[in-house]
Amino acid sequence: MPCAICDDTGWKTIEVDGVSRVARCDCWHQRSFESLLKNARIPRRYLHCELSNFEDHTDSQRRALRLATRLVDQFPVVDKGLLFHGDNGVGKTHLAVALMKEAIRRKGARAIFFETRDLLKLVRDTYNNQVEATELEVLRPVLEAELLVLDDIGAEKKSEWVEETLGLIVNTRYSERRVTVFTTNLTDAENTEPNSLALQLGLRIRSRLKEMCEWVEIAGPDTRELGPHPTHEDIARWQETSPASPKNRGRGHLPPKSTGQARAQLKPRERDGKADLKWPGGRAGS
Ligand SMILES: [Zn+2]
Repeated sequence: MPCAICDDTGWKTIEVDGVSRVARCDCWHQRSFESLLKNARIPRRYLHCELSNFEDHTDSQRRALRLATRLVDQFPVVDKGLLFHGDNGVGKTHLAVALMKEAIRRKGARAIFFETRDLLKLVRDTYNNQVEATELEVLRPVLEAELLVLDDIGAEKKSEWVEETLGLIVNTRYSERRVTVFTTNLTDAENTEPNSLALQLGLRIRSRLKEMCEWVEIAGPDTRELGPHPTHEDIARWQETSPASPKNRGRGHLPPKSTGQARAQLKPRERDGKADLKWPGGRAGS
């Protein structure tokens, strides 16, 4: 059925100060959004993610949401990208996907999403199969996208090749001043810590990431364990009982460096009917 407004021309007539002008029709914007969204390669399980349905139970989650919103507002003139780090289930990927969709919707951004492991596998397969596409051709959309989300960086097995390939991506995007959003479970600790960015990715990549991104630690209850929309009773129970809770995680292991920081203090208060925690921060040493 042709568009009732523009009869599929993609243009509609509007009145500006009593003068008749043409503008892009809503159907054109919708088609353009859908096409950009398809090219963005967002996995189906994240397609529902929006800034408006991000669950912010903690101060760090609210700060992360503010910075994500600000990046979209400023796009494409963005000084620094974002690097979300924190535990599983605190909403890092949700926020990265949500800001990407919003940048596509509002700014027509040419954006692309990759889970780091999938991207590396794609490049490696190209290399192994000696197919017609070269590694660089495979990487081109990643290097050239206006907005790249590289999810779960540092989860792949460490190797010289991985470091080189990630180094190429990071350095190219840095020197071309393209906006990149990273998520990672790694912490910003000394490279003697097994779970540190410095050890997993190397000091050079880490320092480049510092230059090109604002680092945003996100702490909060694990919504993969809790399910969506937890009440603050749910969160309190999770915090007491789950081995993944920062409160319980240190047990049976070496004591955390800063015990004060590792202890989450539960101070629930109501805000818009949603559970709310005073969450002092993630892991010790980060
Ligand atoms: Zn139309």
